[in-house]
Parts: sequence; C-alpha cells; structure tokens
Amino acid sequence: MPYDFSSACADLIIHGERVPARSGRTFETINPFTEQSLGLVAEAGIDDVDDAVKSAREALRAEWGTMRAAQRGQLLLRFADLIRRDQEQLIELESLDTGKPISTIRRQDFPAVLDTLTYYAGFADKINGQVIPARPDALTYTVREPVGVVAAIVPWNFPMMIGMWKIAPALACGCAVILKPAELTPLTALKFGELALEAGIPAGVLNVVPGFGTVAGQALVDHPDVDKVTFTGSPGVGRQILRGSAGNLKRVTLELGGKSANIIFPDADLDAAAKAAASGIFFNSGQVCSAGSRILVHNSVRDEVVERLVARAEKIRVGDPSDSGTQMGPVVSDKQMERILDYIRIGKDEGARLVSGGVRTATRGYTIAPTIFDDVDPQMRISQEEIFGPVASVIGFDDEDEALSIANGTQFSLAAGIWTNDMRRMHRFVRDLKAGTVWANTFGPTDVRLPWGGTRDSGLGREHGEVALENFTEPKSVWIAHGA
Ligand code: NAD
Repeated sequence: MPYDFSSACADLIIHGERVPARSGRTFETINPFTEQSLGLVAEAGIDDVDDAVKSAREALRAEWGTMRAAQRGQLLLRFADLIRRDQEQLIELESLDTGKPISTIRRQDFPAVLDTLTYYAGFADKINGQVIPARPDALTYTVREPVGVVAAIVPWNFPMMIGMWKIAPALACGCAVILKPAELTPLTALKFGELALEAGIPAGVLNVVPGFGTVAGQALVDHPDVDKVTFTGSPGVGRQILRGSAGNLKRVTLELGGKSANIIFPDADLDAAAKAAASGIFFNSGQVCSAGSRILVHNSVRDEVVERLVARAEKIRVGDPSDSGTQMGPVVSDKQMERILDYIRIGKDEGARLVSGGVRTATRGYTIAPTIFDDVDPQMRISQEEIFGPVASVIGFDDEDEALSIANGTQFSLAAGIWTNDMRRMHRFVRDLKAGTVWANTFGPTDVRLPWGGTRDSGLGREHGEVALENFTEPKSVWIAHGA
C-alpha cells in the first residue's frame, strides 16, 4: 500500500507556491525496504529550474535582500522551531524514503539537522567585514555580501542533514537557495520548503526542485543566473559540475567521496577499536562518504581484531527500518544493491577472503549483510574504489611506514582514523595522514562547528564551521578618500 503523503507535499516549491512541473511530469519515489512506491513527486525540468532561479533573484531584490540581519536570524530560528514541531513526520518521511532505521534518524540525523540550523542562525548578524587601515588618506574597509543565488545539490544518503548543511549557512548569509534533492529521496526537502514558508521566510528564498540530476541538476549548473553551486555527491558528477560551472564562472564547493582508512596499532584498546571500526563501516549501511571502509590492522593483532569485527558484524540487526530495534536498514535502491553485490563478487575474484556476510539478507528489500573481507591487498579494486555499502576491507601491515603509505594510497582524502596509545606516533600520523579530518582513538564523529571536506577525489572546499560562511559571501573592498 503506497504511503499517503498527501499531507506532506509532492509538488515543486517555487516562489512560495506548490506547483506541478510545467511538463506535468512526475516520478515515483520507492521505499527501499518494501520496494513499494511511496507516491509520485513532480519532476522539475529546465523551465521549472528557470522559474526557480528567477524567483530566487527576485527574492534577493525584494524583502530578503534588505532585511535586517538579526531578523534573518530570527526567521531561521523560527524555521528550526517548526522543524522541531514536525520532527516525527520528518523522521518518518526520511526513513521511508531512504530505508534508514527510524531510531538512527531520531538519535543522529535529526539532532544534527537542528544543531546545524540553530548554529548558523546565530551567525546571521555576525557576518562582519573589517576595517583595514591601508592608507592614512582614506577609510578602507571590507563588507561581506551574499554571493546571490545558490544551487544546493544533495545526495540520498543523508538528505535532511546534508540539505541543511547547505541551506542553513546560505540563508544565514542572506543568499537565496534552490534546493535539488536526490531523485531517490525528495520528500524531506519538500517538507523543508513548506516549513520555511510557514516560518515567514519570504517566497523565493528557498525553492525546492526535485528531479533528475542530468536534467534539473544540470540545468542549475548551466544556468547563467546561478552564482554558486554547493554539491555533495560522487566524484564523477563533481567533475561535471566543475566543468559546467565554467560558463559564468560560478563559485563551486564539492563534497565528494571517500575510502577512509581506520588504522589499528597493537597498543590500542582493541575492543574499542573493533567496536568503532564496525560502526565506522556499517553505520547507515556503509552509505557514508567518510565510512571506514579500509580497516588497516597491525599483523600481530589482525586475527584477534578480525574475530572481534566478525562477532560484531554478526550481531547487527538488519531489517525493517520502522522497527526501533533495527540497526541497519536496506541500501537505498536496487541499483545500489546490485552495485554493492558486484563489488562483493569482485572482491572474491580478486582473491580477498570473505569472512562475514557477502549476501542479500532477504528476497524483498534491498538489505545486504554486514560484509568483511580479510587478506585484502591495498591495490585491489575493493580497496581503492568507493563501494558505498556495508563492505569492509581488512588490510594487514607491519610498521608505521607501511600503514601510512597504504592509508594515503588512494585518490581520496576525506577522513582517516588512528588507534594507538603511543602519543608520539599519534601526532606523527595526525601530521602525515592526507585527510580533511583525522580521528584518533575514535572514528566517525562530526560536528557542524568543525570544517568538513577533502581534496583530490574527495572534493573542493569545506563545509561546516565559520569557514562555510566564506562559501556564501563575497568580500567587497571599500575606499573612502578623505584626504591627508
Ligand atoms: P550523485 O553524484 O549521483 O548524485 C548527487 C546529486 O547530484 C543528486 O541530487 C543528483 O540528482 C545530482 N546530479 C547527478 N548528476 C548531475 C549532473 N550532471 N548535474 C547536476 N547534478 C547532478 O551521488 P549519489 O549517488 O546521490 O551519492 C553518493 C555519493 O555522494 C558518494 O560518492 C558519496 O561519497 C558522496 N557523498 C559525499 C559526502 C561528503 O560530505 N563528502 C557526503 C555524502 C555523500
């Protein structure tokens, strides 16, 4: 039975109105656990994207562009209040659309959404320029202006959370946003659009255009009146976005993939390390850009660590996301499931030793058992390519140099973890690991106050923290000549 989300919204949100696509086209969104349709969602085309861009530009010229910064912050706090009020509906929609366990969203994603919004709401009236006394005969200073119209293109693995990572700082800086959720998970973005309007955020400031990447996404990237693209997704699409943005030299921030190493030395608390390593790869069914998909273990303790990892993997409750006891739900789509199963076949063919999982757990629902390969060679494809599923590769090493060279030996550089009680070694690794984030004796926590992102195939620029405000403002230098 399809889920009735008629009380939520399935139309586009453009200039404060819920509107069908101009073409009248819709697409289905599927529950990955039941494999049933959740309903139809309007499919934005090039014309709809153009309407959304015009609406955003108009909003910048009107009330939003002239509003006091403090009032902007208050509106964002009101938006947060409404998100809190409707949290149960948002959590349920997100779980139905993504297959994520409802308990995980309640405990992790949802608090992070609110934290992000309230954190950036507080910045709205603290985006200051500087007086820079360059010459004695002039007052010279900077102001920071909003970059303008922002396209926020979001993936399906954390739709609400990553959406908010983009919306909140952009709106705090006074930009207008066009949010393009992933075609697999459009529902909570639409609900955000509704709540922003209810909060009193003016029409056009947050438009929401669900649709396909190659149409709606590409139209945003190509549009000559979009000033900035903030994108989270795959490295391939990231490259396309960079190329596409060259037309009017849009500013671009890219948060892309990862193949994070989690390095375990024999002097670490092995139980804590194995626990964190298991959740580092199996959380969100491994569909996490910073998933610790390469577990590097010193050969002297490898058997012991693998045993603990397998014990943990086998205890994970995989199944119905609506059941509060479920720890791992399905992956997001049949296509994603097939891709992961393919990688499992590749791992076996390459000669890695499958020690746990490796199979679909049911005939219905895209659930895959937590999977562990041991004896993985660092150059195997399962060790180099992002699988984006619950598949861990255990790689042995004998000394620090070898561990470091394996850890840094992929095209990614998003995050890495190190487990040791030798403080000197820890500091050396913190210094030498090529990663935007390094965790020591922990793995996986993020906080909106700390910059997040990577280089090479992991992206361009940073989100989170005060740095993200730079993404959405342009400095203007002012000279007021007053004579000597
Ligand atoms: P994807 O790149 O296929 O899609 C991401 C978004 O881009 C979707 O909204 C999609 O519709 C849109 N898109 C697709 N083609 C486009 C185009 N030509 N022009 C404009 N937009 C287009 O990625 P995905 O499969 O949805 O997400 C998984 C990827 O995201 C993984 O590689 C993962 O590592 C990455 N990711 C990174 C982070 C991070 O913070 N670094 C976080 C989450 C996910």
